[in-house]
Amino acid sequence: MITGHTKVVGLFGHPVDHTLSPAMQNAAFQAAGLSYCYLPFDVHPSVLKEAVRSIFPLGMKGVNLTIPHKQTVIPFLDRLSHDAERIGAVNTIERSGTLLVGHNTDGIGFLKSLHEQQVDPGGLRVILVGAGGAALGVALTLAQQNITEMILIVRTTEGRTIGGTTQLAARLTAWFPMLRLSLLEMTDRIGLPHLPHFKTLLINATPLGMREGDPFPFPPSLMETGWIVADLVYRPFETPLLREAAKRGIKTISGMGMLLHQGAAAFEIWIKENAPVDVMRKALAAALSE
Ligand code: NAP
Repeated sequence: MITGHTKVVGLFGHPVDHTLSPAMQNAAFQAAGLSYCYLPFDVHPSVLKEAVRSIFPLGMKGVNLTIPHKQTVIPFLDRLSHDAERIGAVNTIERSGTLLVGHNTDGIGFLKSLHEQQVDPGGLRVILVGAGGAALGVALTLAQQNITEMILIVRTTEGRTIGGTTQLAARLTAWFPMLRLSLLEMTDRIGLPHLPHFKTLLINATPLGMREGDPFPFPPSLMETGWIVADLVYRPFETPLLREAAKRGIKTISGMGMLLHQGAAAFEIWIKENAPVDVMRKALAAALSE
């Protein structure tokens, strides 16, 4: 129920039409008996600064950020959390007194999605495909979890590295100089060698799998029994990569868990109390099936 006391939080993105966050966060506020409202705001990049400063006069508690604002917002903030600084991207702004503080809950959201599936990344080899903002958050969080090594799949074409992998590798090396890190080329002609190893966590951090007909982000024939395969894509809930892994008896982890837990972490940043995770999970599942 919206009253004169209702506080507003929301999402700044461009576009925001397909977001599931309002369903998840509003269900959480209702369950917690809080007079809060979560709204999507389609903020064009040209007015991002004004939108961010409006958090003060509108008395908002904070906002989430999505594409394309996660990095460009940083100059408009007063302070960054340790995670946001390391990752170089912000997905949650907290209004803390007279300051705007940037946080990044993607990595912790992914880690919690592993934990709730009884997966401890400690001792695992990680193969990461994709080098965008989400990959960076996941990679920097996993690098703190005692993993044995990380292999980044590098896209190349005609002998040239393309994409953001080099930048991701540079950030990882700067923050975690002791991490065993290698880059493996997946060229447009050659593909990957076999990577047999029992304890492996393969992560798709590219958008491949969202659209029908997308190529696989990783050749399914190279996935081994005993691996764990996680996808950051949450729509569809089971991507073709996860389906292929499940067919081979491999444990799979959908991107919905990360979506849920990064949202729960944002709720906790704003509200300073535990998020009603089960309520949020149900609301997400209902929104996803619509
Ligand atoms: P992004 O910053 O645009 O990065 C996408 C990455 O995928 C880039 O490294 C890009 O390569 C790579 N890529 C794109 N098309 C590719 C292709 N055809 N082959 C190989 N690599 C390709 O996006 P993002 O924010 O990191 O998000 C990535 C995915 O994660 C999206 O599907 C998003 O929905 C999902 N996500 C999920 C959650 C969650 O809570 N579950 C949270 C955040 C994001 P280049 O470097 O060449 O551009």
